[in-house]
Amino acid sequence: MAVLEKAAGNETLLEVENLKKYFLAKKGMLSSQTAWLKAVDDVSFNINKGETLGLVGESGCGKTTIGRTILHLYEPTSGTVKFKGRKIDKHSIKTLRRHMQIIFQDPFASLNPRMTVGDIIGEPLDIHNLAKTKNERKDRILALLEMVGLNPEHANRYPHEFSGGQRQRIGIARALAVEPEFIVCDEPISALDVSIQAQVINMLEDLQQELGLTYLFIAHDLSVVKHISDRVGVMYLGKLVELSPSGKLYKNPLHPYTKALLSAIPVPDPNLSRSRKRIILEGDIPSPINPPSGCRFRTRCPHAKPICAEAEPVLKELEKDHFCACHLFDS
Ligand code: SF4
Repeated sequence: MAVLEKAAGNETLLEVENLKKYFLAKKGMLSSQTAWLKAVDDVSFNINKGETLGLVGESGCGKTTIGRTILHLYEPTSGTVKFKGRKIDKHSIKTLRRHMQIIFQDPFASLNPRMTVGDIIGEPLDIHNLAKTKNERKDRILALLEMVGLNPEHANRYPHEFSGGQRQRIGIARALAVEPEFIVCDEPISALDVSIQAQVINMLEDLQQELGLTYLFIAHDLSVVKHISDRVGVMYLGKLVELSPSGKLYKNPLHPYTKALLSAIPVPDPNLSRSRKRIILEGDIPSPINPPSGCRFRTRCPHAKPICAEAEPVLKELEKDHFCACHLFDS
């Protein structure tokens, strides 16, 4: 648990300890046999109050499963998650849910098309009994709409009448309705036009300042989390392979997978872009049902050596607050 303690600077809000989430899945398309799909396999980290932890990796690496398991939308296979020191389980989540919310990737799919925007935002107020009168409920809905840059008249409209960016703002207003302290932002901008993405990121940053929010910001792309994250965790096939303050990770990535992800980010400066070598990863991400032995990245790693197939590398602190799981750094 050294990882948890050493990374903590301020007050710890959320502790994730040896978290595993396995799903029973079919072994293949035509097979009736089942096996465990290890979506999240022994992951530990913490999140400090007021910070944004970015979590990145290719699709299928387990980052969304972590977000949902933290909120107990999925029951963990093993391991613990604590919010303000209190273990999250099927009993405590009933009272903790109000403090922990989620913003989904697809704002359209997550909004009930038959409800007005006012009722979508008002629903959590009703569930948690947060408005004593009809007027109080209405005032709160209008204040939330204003908070996310929408107008009072939008309350009577339906989700299909809005653009993707506006729908995501409605999703954010709904999450904020219960005055949460922690929000899982699950790829909140990946379904949006590039021109809208920066607006939503800026809004999330402003809301964080204003309301003292803490975010777990999930994305498949390191360029997206660069500006919003205080620290970044990189995941590969259910494992956390690198965890670092954001500046250090972008300046000096240590894990070969992180280096490959970073090399794929377009650089605006053409000279820098020409001098930078793109690392192309061979092959596809292996199946989490039957992950490679030892280091799970070894089948695609340009630096793999015999030990990588034999022993799983451990996440170790290689520089202050900079953790990496790779045999290249074994002493
Ligand atoms: Fe590559 Fe080996 Fe490091 Fe894994 S442990 S990232 S295979 S060098």
